[in-house]
Amino acid sequence: MIVKQIWTANNYRNFNYLIACAETGEALAVDPLDHEKCLDAAKDAGWQITQILNTHEHRDHTGGNDAVVRATGAAILAHRNARDSIPAMQRGLGAGDVVKVGKTVELEVLDTPGHTMTHVCLRSHTDQPALFCGDTLFNAGAGNCHNGGHPKELYRTFVGQLARLPDETRIYPGHDYLARNLAFTLDREPTNAGAREMIESAEQMDPARAIVTTLGVEKQINVFFRLQSAEVIRQLRERVPGLPDNPTSEDVFLALRELRNRW
Ligand SMILES: [Zn+2]
Repeated sequence: MIVKQIWTANNYRNFNYLIACAETGEALAVDPLDHEKCLDAAKDAGWQITQILNTHEHRDHTGGNDAVVRATGAAILAHRNARDSIPAMQRGLGAGDVVKVGKTVELEVLDTPGHTMTHVCLRSHTDQPALFCGDTLFNAGAGNCHNGGHPKELYRTFVGQLARLPDETRIYPGHDYLARNLAFTLDREPTNAGAREMIESAEQMDPARAIVTTLGVEKQINVFFRLQSAEVIRQLRERVPGLPDNPTSEDVFLALRELRNRW
């Protein structure tokens, strides 16, 4: 499996992806908003885009569909309940479905509600596993829930699905918010050594050559995976009125999500 991460350099800081089969050159485009960059990258590599995967229905993920379909005839895949919100969708996906790319790539579909209620992530089972996580999980952060999402669902997705994946899973999110998210983690947990160590390189990072984290790293630097940290809980108690004395991990997650909205 070959992964090409494409930095759009737009105001939303989107990442698009091409996932290609090394044997056949067939490629899947993930959220190809910047259709020109995606089509050019495929052409340069000698790949044919045969499928488009939309992680979810937001326009900054689906806005390139038409142009890519016109240029390549690719089929559009998305969550099966997104048919009304994603025009010309050809294949509806549910948990456990497999998306094949060429001969060698198989991606498992995870149904990951929270950012929206029709959001999927793709997981590869290659030697180095990978997760294409759209706006559910960001490097050092979590998706927002204010355009059709639900924080409690996002919490359940984080603890019930994402946290259980292998630590070596490479994380490929839909946007670059790494530096700002690390700053939020450090504001919640000033002694977080991993976040402290990474923030300078994140601030100087050229997103065209982005840092790719793993789930194991995320569990260190991403406060949304650090729901048991005594420091995080103590800090939240000072800032979030009404947080119980012994908050559950769900209470902590929801408080973090709320605080991040205003931060
Ligand atoms: Zn979104």
